[in-house]
Amino acid sequence: MTVIVKKFGGTSVGDTTKIKNVAKRIIRTIELGHQVVVVVSAMGGSTDRLIALAEEISISPPERELDVLLSTGEQVSIALLAMAVSELGYEAISLTGNQVGILTDGFYSNARIVSINNARILTELDLGKVVILAGFQGVTIDDEITTLGRGASDTTAVAVAASLGAERCEIYTDVDGIFTADPRIVKNARKLNQITHEEMLEMAGLGAKVLHSRSVELAQKFEVPLAVRSSFHQGEGTIIVKESEMMERVVVSGVTSNTDQAKISLIGIEDKPGVAAKVFQAVAEQKINIDMIIQNIGHDGTADLSFTVSEKDLSSTVDIIEKVRRQIKIATVETDSNISKVSVVGIGMVSHVGIAAKMFSALAIENINIQMISTSEIKISCVINQLQTEKAVQVVHDSFDLGRSVS
Ligand code: ADP
Ligand code: ASP
Ligand code: MG
Repeated sequence: MTVIVKKFGGTSVGDTTKIKNVAKRIIRTIELGHQVVVVVSAMGGSTDRLIALAEEISISPPERELDVLLSTGEQVSIALLAMAVSELGYEAISLTGNQVGILTDGFYSNARIVSINNARILTELDLGKVVILAGFQGVTIDDEITTLGRGASDTTAVAVAASLGAERCEIYTDVDGIFTADPRIVKNARKLNQITHEEMLEMAGLGAKVLHSRSVELAQKFEVPLAVRSSFHQGEGTIIVKESEMMERVVVSGVTSNTDQAKISLIGIEDKPGVAAKVFQAVAEQKINIDMIIQNIGHDGTADLSFTVSEKDLSSTVDIIEKVRRQIKIATVETDSNISKVSVVGIGMVSHVGIAAKMFSALAIENINIQMISTSEIKISCVINQLQTEKAVQVVHDSFDLGRSVS
């Protein structure tokens, strides 16, 4: 018998009616003769509510306790889903990360899976049960509960599929698949039948939260067939494929946006060797990720240096820069969290010219000012005013004709 891993996200298990529907879908797969392992997220909004509760008590709760708290969200949904499957006359068992043995490193709130113990899962499957696993959580070698980062139930699902050698991993969510842009922002966004791992990784990293980045990485590394489908409608959804398997040849696959960005500008910073190294070393030491960097051409012995970080890291980055200022001269430090990053992603960009110009023109026509630009072989990103994000995504999407169906 083949094992199929199915993951249901927060909105798909948002209330008990939806949980009952998920149970019915699972049964349909069982009746087709497959063994099913289900990975479930917390009921929609419940992880946010748990974080809000913690913040009512402390602005920076102990990270260990936060993970103990957040892992309870998934414990609720797995138990309810197991009850719903039993109600339909099939045997099911819910298991937490700890019970399964999803071993992680010790980085609370952003832990990485080290290994998965298949034994318990296989035993329960052999007993004819539907195995329902808590996504997003694991346990360290010292029995401490960890969580894997927001949205990481996708990663649990792919990791479990890889570990079991499952036939495929299906991610069920509240949209019909992966679209050319977030369908909540762009009404004429088109569902893609296929997307390459490279493109999906970029899109996930640039703000398309439909898949957690690490789930795509693992699917690529362990060659797990991966698909995104709707929890509410039938349909093949989108499959993630190797570049060589791509049937549709397109230049740009999608447009993404990320409003979780903040810009720090160091105006009048000394223009001499080693200055940038000092600034970025100090930031890196605190494990803060820097995204874009621009430096203008220096004059009068000074330059201006701007870079972006995730919004949550803004205040700690400013604290670090204030310390750096004791060693190097910086005339003023300016910050702006009212920015966002809009990006186009496409594997076909490598062999096409004029993509950047097209994107910049689309923004210019709408009077959207570009504050920073960064490019790679398969993406172009622009930092703009956050208030113009939705407009920008729409016009860039239109300028590449992404809403049009491919014949
Ligand atoms: P789940 O709770 O099922 O994990 P998420 O909210 O994490 O669901 O991801 C699904 C959401 O991702 C969709 O509701 C959609 O708004 C958003 N999204 C952003 N970009 C895209 C895209 N390019 N294609 C599809 N969905 C996208
Ligand atoms: N419940 C977690 C979150 O809200 C994990 C997930 O949904 O994938 O981030
Ligand atoms: Mg998600």
